[in-house]
Amino acid sequence: MGLLSLGTPLDWHESRKHNEHVRENGIEQLINIFKQHGERQNDHFYWGDEVEYMLVDIDSSNKTAKLAIDRDSILDDLNDPSKPEIAMKAINNNVSFHPEYGRYMIEATPLKPYDGESLSDYVYVEENMVKRREVSQSELPKHIIPLTLTTYPRMGCGNFTSPTAKPIGPASQSLFLPDEIINRHVRFPTLTANIRKRRGHKVAINLPIYPDTNTKLIDDSIPKRDLFPSDEEPWLGASQPGHVYMDSMGFGMGSSCLQITVQPSDIHEARYLYDTLAPLTPILMAVSAAAPIFKGFLVNQDVRWNVISGAVDDRTFLERDIKPYRGLDFFGGLDVPDEVKVHFDKLGGGPGVNGDHITNEFGDTTITTLDGKPVQKIPKSRYESIDSYLSDEGYRSDPYFKKSYNDIYSPINKKVYDKLISTKLFDAPLAHHFAHLFIRDPLVIFSERVNQNNNLDNDHFENLQSTNWQTLRFKPPALYSDIDDLTKTPGWRVEFRPLEIQLTDFENAAYSVFITLVSKAILKFSPDFYMPISKVDSNMKTAHGVDASTDAKFWFRNPSQWRLNNEDFKGYDLTWFDRFVNDGNDLFDDNVVYLNGYVEVNNGIENGIVEHEDCQNVKLTAQELIDGSDTFPGLIKMIVKLIATDLLPANWQNSSHHCKSRQFARDLELIRNYLKLISGRASGKIPTVARFLRNFVLKHPDYKQDSKVSERINYDLVQASVAITNLDFKHHQPLLEEYFGEEIASYLQTRTN
Ligand code: ADP
Ligand code: MG
Ligand code: MG
Ligand code: MG
Repeated sequence: MGLLSLGTPLDWHESRKHNEHVRENGIEQLINIFKQHGERQNDHFYWGDEVEYMLVDIDSSNKTAKLAIDRDSILDDLNDPSKPEIAMKAINNNVSFHPEYGRYMIEATPLKPYDGESLSDYVYVEENMVKRREVSQSELPKHIIPLTLTTYPRMGCGNFTSPTAKPIGPASQSLFLPDEIINRHVRFPTLTANIRKRRGHKVAINLPIYPDTNTKLIDDSIPKRDLFPSDEEPWLGASQPGHVYMDSMGFGMGSSCLQITVQPSDIHEARYLYDTLAPLTPILMAVSAAAPIFKGFLVNQDVRWNVISGAVDDRTFLERDIKPYRGLDFFGGLDVPDEVKVHFDKLGGGPGVNGDHITNEFGDTTITTLDGKPVQKIPKSRYESIDSYLSDEGYRSDPYFKKSYNDIYSPINKKVYDKLISTKLFDAPLAHHFAHLFIRDPLVIFSERVNQNNNLDNDHFENLQSTNWQTLRFKPPALYSDIDDLTKTPGWRVEFRPLEIQLTDFENAAYSVFITLVSKAILKFSPDFYMPISKVDSNMKTAHGVDASTDAKFWFRNPSQWRLNNEDFKGYDLTWFDRFVNDGNDLFDDNVVYLNGYVEVNNGIENGIVEHEDCQNVKLTAQELIDGSDTFPGLIKMIVKLIATDLLPANWQNSSHHCKSRQFARDLELIRNYLKLISGRASGKIPTVARFLRNFVLKHPDYKQDSKVSERINYDLVQASVAITNLDFKHHQPLLEEYFGEEIASYLQTRTN
């Protein structure tokens, strides 16, 4: 969750005076980072995941399940050196616990990043994830369970916390979420309040209600209240008919996700990897979909992304280019002189009309804040898909990247852009990337940290970097003193951020390993996945849809132009594992047995792309991208070939030898099941978590075909989640078979026995 400085956070009206100071010094810090690390090379391939949990308090006598908001002290204990008997449990198990937005949340990562050079590094991940649950559970009573639910189904419905808390808090002013759900650290309530104050009104998220036979297409859960002026907002336009209305940061930042960070060898590799992962972000998000329920309603979408996007959207009406609610102005909490506001109002500066105020291609209006920054039109929230590619110009002499791929309107901070270019350390796409992040204002400034040493501190840079929550994050190294050995410090990293969290460690390990192996395969085989970034954005919308994983088609670069030779990947589908592990499965001569020429099992995919052969971009299903077809490899074949050629013990690679080690065969079987899971979720053979949860509600005896998720359904759903999390085959075999599909269920059951 970025940096957690200790100190006094400034209220928005105080902090905004330092905005330009933070940006200017943040950019100095970034420039110093480039001076210190720009040329570093040959960093080792490390990687790591982040898993977020919700602590759920289950009361089986009353049949209720609630979010536990009084157990956050376990995070202090697990990190407290003065309590070595607790803290050492984490350290000895190579796990690390971090605070998150929700007081009921914890985040856990490996203590040290994983190595990525041999297969055993990928096999170890799940074990590490299991330890995180064990260690945290050991500090909790049995009835409070860390669950990896993406969203809590009845978040914001009446009495959903343990202990009870009322939604009357001044930080969020939410009609539904008490401030007691927010992490106690002052940073978090301040963040919540400052987003609202900058914006000038509460955030407003509207999700379409899932239309069932008895559904009234109206959110009837909005209370009339007279506590804050903002209580009126739902009736002034914030709440839309037919939609579930949510009014607080917690609805988004209080959900859980899975993130993966990898470290390529240098900045150039990192830029190419970042760009090449970008078109994958929406598609893999759809394949990880796990969020069909919000605020007690089934909704007509499957993922959380646009909810978080709305939940931290600090843009004013002017920046969003829409008409203010009655009684509010365009400027929200921006530091703009009153006479400018009056003048603007006189011009009747509404949408369209205030279009006249755009003066240049950077989105600047004619209005500036008191510290001299132009007020801009900003199409996206701070939490959104990436706006531009970084380019692979420094990576290969004949770059794949073309300027025309950065084809969406993406405002920048022109002053920052010019400054970065003037150093000659940044080329245009890189300067654009950071200048875009720096259109934002810092949201929380600690008074003790206003003045920093720009040669050693990077908090001002991180302040903006870590509150630009995009689908990918390009993570620069930190600053170090002369005596530090830079080769031992983290280098340039890329973080993959769109995935939803899955219920089990098996699945979370599978998605983490998948993304990491795809990253490694990208660096090895150098595919060209570039397409106009507007198409990635359009996929992002598509990926929100119900069952997008199986039913949607996504724009992708035409596989005929990936610069991969399909012949090179023949035989590296999931059947490779059988051939490698089992003597006697090979029908061909030695040497070619499992590498080339093997008749591929027909996976039933029609080759739908031939007719578009000339087009640069085509529409693919997630399954086509993941499994490939007769004419192009797909992600799984890239991964399998990577395993076969790079991750096997050296004496087995490219040889005719079968796997001779039982342990190694078991490890490969695990990885094969990870790949099968992802492939199955895309083909529909295995339901996504979202599909499973939706079906669970639709089939529940208490469900009234009205799209509502009652307290009892919520309780049963939590109980089912616990059974699935624990892989409790003994008592819940049919449930687990439905969740995983029979093949993987049977693998997991055998493995558990
Ligand atoms: P953030 O919340 O800012 O993304 P975290 O520290 O919570 O950062 O998580 C970062 C992830 O990156 C963890 O999984 C960690 O293991 C991993 N990681 C740490 N150092 C490296 C490195 N040098 N290379 C790759 N991954 C790393
Ligand atoms: Mg987190
Ligand atoms: Mg983190
Ligand atoms: Mg992260």
